[in-house]
Formats: sequence, structure tokens, C-alpha cells
Amino acid sequence: MADMRSGSGRARKLALCCCAWLLPAIATAAADEAWRYRAVFDAAKQSMRVSVCARDAHARIAFAADSAWAMRFIADIARDGSGAMTQGSGGWSADDWHAGECLSYRADLAAIAAEHKPDVGWRSGDDIVAAPQLWLLRPDAPAGEARIRVELPAGWSISAPWRSVLAPSPTKGDEKQPPKDVAIKEFVIPDTPADWSASVAFGHFDERRIELPGGVLRLSILGGVEPAQKEKLERWFGRVARAVLGAYGRVPLPDVQVLMIPVAGRGRAVVFGQSVRGQGNALQLLIDPSRAESEFDDDWMAVHELSHLMHPYLGDRGSWLAEGLATYYQNVLRARGGLLTPAQAWDRLAEGFGRGAGAGGDETLEQTAEGMEHTHNFQRVYWAGAAFWLTVDRDLRRASGGKVGLDTALSRFRDGSLPAYRQWRPEDFVAKLDALAGSTLISARYREFAAMRGFPDWRSIYADLGIGDRGGRMRFDEQARDAAIREAIMRPKAN
Ligand SMILES: [Zn+2]
Repeated sequence: MADMRSGSGRARKLALCCCAWLLPAIATAAADEAWRYRAVFDAAKQSMRVSVCARDAHARIAFAADSAWAMRFIADIARDGSGAMTQGSGGWSADDWHAGECLSYRADLAAIAAEHKPDVGWRSGDDIVAAPQLWLLRPDAPAGEARIRVELPAGWSISAPWRSVLAPSPTKGDEKQPPKDVAIKEFVIPDTPADWSASVAFGHFDERRIELPGGVLRLSILGGVEPAQKEKLERWFGRVARAVLGAYGRVPLPDVQVLMIPVAGRGRAVVFGQSVRGQGNALQLLIDPSRAESEFDDDWMAVHELSHLMHPYLGDRGSWLAEGLATYYQNVLRARGGLLTPAQAWDRLAEGFGRGAGAGGDETLEQTAEGMEHTHNFQRVYWAGAAFWLTVDRDLRRASGGKVGLDTALSRFRDGSLPAYRQWRPEDFVAKLDALAGSTLISARYREFAAMRGFPDWRSIYADLGIGDRGGRMRFDEQARDAAIREAIMRPKAN
């Protein structure tokens, strides 16, 4: 489903320097973030007392809210010194900011949660979810990672997309010491574009760490789900997470926040899923915990969302590449992980290609992808994209005699380019995969598919792979030109 979210990417500038004597100073500066937040959670009021302190002095500094609308969640704004704050249309600004000076304010998390929208805020039982961009004002300079220290009353937990710092920094002399029964957590907030969404949850849940080769998935199940159902959900998600290792033996990212939010009465086990990239990487799944474990095992959405972790954010124009990759792998990885048989996986792909071909539309695939949020022509975008990646996987395996496939290129992409905290142009992503696979064919296919007005000819690919349909049953032809490639695509990998 959705792979969220960006519009204008804010590129980070990398300063290159020829002078070796400058290096120690740069290393020190990099370890010392320009901005430090301190957030003290008030459980009774469900509000957050926030202060944000500058490392450097600023002649003029602006603190942006997420939007003019979002300013309603912020109150009691004040600066340390005697200087004034000026309220503007989307935030506050001030002159003569001193090095070490702090801004403090109160953020109304209860009001954010009451919005009850997945990208804004949510309440689930006694647990609350609040998008951090709505309660962390963002200084306009300089860009870079920030640090945050969160103080929680006893019994409260936090789930955030941020990187955990194992040893919190000591309270400074002029800071009030937290009470003994307060839990202190410290994190680094990755620098992602301001309009990429994220979620932070507070409540009485346990964050469960699913440690796998290549990284950890930090699973929090909100809403006070009863223990037997929680165990069922954890077992299922463990199976799904291990299936993702079928791509290249490691999870795509070192650290991923996973939030499961229960919803009832929607008639299916997994109701909605999205991967979000603001301030780190995260998956959100809306689930009905009362459904049977077998229904969860039938689900495709969780594997789809995990597959989105393999690529960077590609924007609306590249959404057919992003959704196509997740749609292709949701079937391939379930077959490799034993959640589907290879025949079932080829069958589900064929069904999807059939739906995509029937969806119509006479614009190019790239135009259809760009307009997808308005036209809702998801079937064509997702499945034409899946046909692209099947074609590319087949081409790479043909060209290399089976030595290099799509997995190989994505595995190398993981090592050099993930996590990606900025948007990639789709052309740059496929060119990078080509370079990593030692080919030029992915970019050539990209141009062909982006400009395509009809649905890709998936039937001729199936014919080459030796996949036929006789009397409603999948038939495999062992003499077909690409029969070995067909077997290799769905074969489990030794991990
Ligand atoms: Zn998706």
C-alpha cells in the first residue's frame, strides 16, 4: 500500500575538505548536534513540555510548526533570555539567539491524538500516537541530526522512528533533575525533509525487538491487546519478517519502528499498511487482532510494506517503480519463505497482471503514476510496476547466466545507499542499480515502461518462463526457454 511521503526534498550539503588538519574539528562537530530537545511527558494532561536548545548563536532564528494549522497544538512559548518571540504565519522567530539558549513550550498531544488520522494522531485504548512534526518545532538552521531526551513517568513506553542512544547524557548543572521514578530515553533524530511524516507512540505497551541479520525491527502493539492475541500477532510478524530475508539474507535497514494499531470489525486481519520515512524508517499496520492466525498468514500487506524498505523514496513520478517493487516481492518473498507455494505465487502475480491490464487508461505509465492519488488507478500502477521488475529480474538473470538477479543489485544498493534520508529521482535509482549489477538494461527497460501506454506484455514473459494455464490450473513447462529462471526466482535462499 502507501509508501509515504514527500514533496520538496531538502538535500543535505556535504562539505568536502582538502585539509587534513581540519578533520578532528569536523568529527567533533558532527558528534555534537546543533539542536537538543528535552521532552517531559505529563501523563495526566497528556501533554509534552518541550525545550529546544541551540549549540550556536544566531542573529535570527525561526522555529517552524508543521503548518499554520498545526500551531494550535503549541502553547506557552517562551525563550530563556529576556528577548522577544515574534509569531508568524507558520511558526515563531527571534533575534539575537545566544549559544546555549533554549526555547520552551507545551504541546497538546491529547488534541493531536483526537484528530484520529493515521498521519496526524490516533488514540488506541490508553495509548496515543502523535506525529512528531506537530509537537517538535523545527529550527530553520542549520540542517542536521538533532538529539532528543524524553522523560516518561513510570509504566509509560515510547515508540519512535529515531535511533536510540544507549547511554543518555547526564543532566546539566542548570537543568532540573528528573524524579527517581522517571524513565529517561535519549535518541538521535535523523535529518529527513520536513514534510516526511512520522509517528511517535506513548502508552503502556512493550516494544519487542525482533533481531535479524542486518538489523532490528522494533514492534509495538498498541491498544492493550490481550496477551493471547498479542502472542499470535508477534508469531505472525516474526514469520513475515523472516520471509523478507529471502531477498538477500538481511533485512534492508538496520533499525525500523513497527507500529501495530488494532481496529475492529473491518472483515479482514490486516486492514491497512503504510511505510513512512520521516525522522527514520517505520511501518504502520492497522490490524484486527480478533481474526484467526491463518487469516494473518494469508495477508500480503505486511510483506509488501517490508519490501518498501529496499528502495528509497521515489516521489509520485517514481511511484510505479516503488509500488511495483513491493508488489513483485510481496509474492516472491512469500514463496521463498514458504508462506505460498511457487505455483500460488505465480498465480497471484498472473491474477494481478490481469487486473492491471483490465484497469485501462491511455496515459503513459509515468503519467498514470503521477496522477494516481486523484485517479485511483492503483491496479495499473502497482501491477505494471510489478511486471517491470519481473522483466528486469528475468533480463538480468538471462544476461548473466543466472549469476546476477534483481536481489543482487538491491543487496548492493543496501550496502552503499541505505538508509536514504532524501528523495531519489527514479532515473537515478535505476541507473544506480545498473551500475551495481554491471548492466545498462534496467535503465533501458525503465525508459520503455515509463513511456508505455498499454499494459506490459506479461503473457509473453510467462510463456518464456514456461507458465501456462490449462483448465484453470497452473502448468509448468520444463522445456521452456526461461524455465530455470522461473525456478530460481521463487526458490528459497539459504540464510
Ligand atoms: Zn506500497
